[in-house]
Amino acid sequence: MDCVRHEIPLREHAHGGPLSPALEAHLASCAVCQEVVSAEQRLLWEIDRALDGVARIEPSPTFVARARAVALERPRGRRNRSGFRPWGGRSGRCPRSQERC
Ligand SMILES: [Zn+2]
Repeated sequence: MDCVRHEIPLREHAHGGPLSPALEAHLASCAVCQEVVSAEQRLLWEIDRALDGVARIEPSPTFVARARAVALERPRGRRNRSGFRPWGGRSGRCPRSQERC
């Protein structure tokens, strides 16, 4: 049996999909195809484990309040705290519109 052409059905089987009787019989005796299924199952396990870790991350209880305070503290269009003026110069005026940014 040509093992390469069965890669997709074998991967689907690793995800719980059914196998044809012929492929099931082949899988029982083919180490290459067994490894394809095992590798896919290991990949799924790694993905599950990574997603479980992400699900356990919780933001600090004060995160939302601090983020909101920072957002409200900084008016739009004003220079940032570092003093950097995005349009350059001393006036703080936009070179294109000649209006104060
Ligand atoms: Zn095979």
